[in-house]
Amino acid sequence: MRRFEALLDRAGIDVVDLPPQVEEVKGVMVYLGQFPDGCGRIFLNPTLTADDDPHSVAVVAHELAHFLLSTLTDHPRHVLPLLLDPAQRPGYNELEEEADCLAAYLLVPPDVRTHYPSRYPTMESLAAALGVPIWVVERALAHPDYDPTPICAFLSDLIGHPTFVPRDEGLAG
Ligand SMILES: [Zn+2]
Repeated sequence: MRRFEALLDRAGIDVVDLPPQVEEVKGVMVYLGQFPDGCGRIFLNPTLTADDDPHSVAVVAHELAHFLLSTLTDHPRHVLPLLLDPAQRPGYNELEEEADCLAAYLLVPPDVRTHYPSRYPTMESLAAALGVPIWVVERALAHPDYDPTPICAFLSDLIGHPTFVPRDEGLAG
């Protein structure tokens, strides 16, 4: 989880396994206090290997996206209670969509996307270069006009880096 290290450290978040009984949940995050000055924990489904597996990267990015959105927009702090109430399911799905959209942007930002398809001729090759699942690349490419500038500025102030692209990979530019 090297790409998330600075943010996880700054926000006091650790990453641990969910109990194996919780099969249907890929990830859950709990945060106490005002983000990023409190502390929290991301629980990952134990079928996801913790370190830089693309699926783990996507789940951690999604959980962090919920917290960035709830800090800077009217996105609610905890969405899991909505999942448990069938009447709130459409609202829940919308919030999940919003978190996926931000996570995809931060994992596959525009400066990297410009190299598709010149340097990375297929979505698979771009996904492999970034260490993310292909569906994350598809999601990012499907929303070319999505622009979370305030969130990137917030991240830059916080950790000196506006996205979740590993810094030393030389993918952008
Ligand atoms: Zn979610």
